[in-house]
Amino acid sequence: MQPQFYNIINDELRGSKDTHRVTDPRTEEELWPCPIATPQDFEDAVAAAQQAFTAWSQTTVPERQALLVKLADVIRDNGDELASILMKETGKSKILADIDVQAGIAQCLYYSQNALADEIQHEDAHSKVVATHVPLGTVAAICPWNFPLILSNIKVVSSLVTGNCVIVKPSPFTPYAVMRWVELSRGILPRGVFQVLNGGADLGAAMTAHPGIAKISFTGTIATGKKVLAACAKTLKRVTLELAGNNACIVCADADLDAAVPSVASGGFFNAGQVCVAAKRVYVHESVYDEFLRRLVQEVEGKYGIREDGFAPSVFGPVDNRVQYEVVKGIIEDCKSKGYEIVTGGETEGVKEKGYWLPPTIVARPPEESLLVQEEQFGPVLPILSWSDEDDVVKRANLANAGLGASVYSADLARAERIARRLEAGGVWINHPERPNFGAYFSGIKDSGFGGEMGKQGLLSYAHTKCLHYAK
Ligand code: NAD
Repeated sequence: MQPQFYNIINDELRGSKDTHRVTDPRTEEELWPCPIATPQDFEDAVAAAQQAFTAWSQTTVPERQALLVKLADVIRDNGDELASILMKETGKSKILADIDVQAGIAQCLYYSQNALADEIQHEDAHSKVVATHVPLGTVAAICPWNFPLILSNIKVVSSLVTGNCVIVKPSPFTPYAVMRWVELSRGILPRGVFQVLNGGADLGAAMTAHPGIAKISFTGTIATGKKVLAACAKTLKRVTLELAGNNACIVCADADLDAAVPSVASGGFFNAGQVCVAAKRVYVHESVYDEFLRRLVQEVEGKYGIREDGFAPSVFGPVDNRVQYEVVKGIIEDCKSKGYEIVTGGETEGVKEKGYWLPPTIVARPPEESLLVQEEQFGPVLPILSWSDEDDVVKRANLANAGLGASVYSADLARAERIARRLEAGGVWINHPERPNFGAYFSGIKDSGFGGEMGKQGLLSYAHTKCLHYAK
């Protein structure tokens, strides 16, 4: 039987006369009808959240944390179903879909153990000041398509543990698993606390404009993020923007290539490069460039080939949707038309009869001003550049759109750390592929974002820190 999907408003299932279907990026098969939320659905969800907030905001942190454990149980108990939906809507392999599910569980459990606590900020003979963290109201979580569960769930659990209500808007390219997860979670939280609405840019824009939404947590492109920030100014909403990263990876002359090559390959081609912190530009020291490139091509050709069977042991897959597929294709075609050296991959036509498949593609020494180097590709094509002077490579690495992540490979930790500290990015990985850690604050600077989430510090953006001043 065909699965059914619903907007969830006040714990009730709601269909819609308008639906859309997502295309399976592996096969171009049309998936299931998905109801598109109407403006009235959105108004009803805001009203339900506002009604729920009065009591929910007064619950204690331990009470809320106990419910996060139950949310984790729901994901775990339904992990196979959620993973199979994720495989269809994202084109992910089973391994990748399971990562989305398992990390969702881990995020719930992390915040079931970690939360903000009151803190004495000043005390003397005359007064004592206690800082406490009060919820904001209703959070709208506007999400992208690359890791649908993880990237929605982090906003959900951060909202809930701090005592906010949350309305999730998944990407219209990947709505199903998130909608099913919220449906399965019904009955755990008070009605109206956790809701989901499916829609696109119109619904997202409505969320940024609505006076009943206290905070927008947005993950997506820089261009949309700027629109979100501008729209939120009108109602002075709190805003967190997790945006794109044209992340630099720097390989030093003394790097251990046995370890660095597989790590950089994974950084660049895991989930076909559709990872916000993925290595998107690799700068290799001139003295090891040829050897590094030779080994990287070998590694990528061996481990990241196209596997049409989603159950094959692979962390590579198709591009998630036609829009992004055209973007990545355009970048590869630009490289070809300009005569840049493509050392592996590069085919853009007839890669497979069906599906948004592009082969893992490596481009050697494209010019610094090329599209591939200057813009985030968010797909399976990686430029490998060279460097010889540390000041110069740091300057080239620090583009305005490269403020999310970066990585450095060197056998000399002091040198790696020195470079890491000079890179203008919210997170830098040293001798390590770029992977967010839900216990660690995650944020972009410059064009890559505004505020951040994850870790205990991430919760601060989901609360007002309010001070109680006591006379002594
Ligand atoms: P996108 O900006 O196209 O869409 C993101 C979300 O915004 C979607 O839900 C979309 O419907 C909604 N939206 C569109 N227009 C809107 C508007 N005017 N107002 C409000 N909402 C609107 O991004 P995408 O293509 O879904 O995501 C891919 C991008 O996300 C990549 O650039 C990637 O680097 C970035 N990303 C960043 C992080 C991070 O944590 N920094 C994580 C994952 C992905």
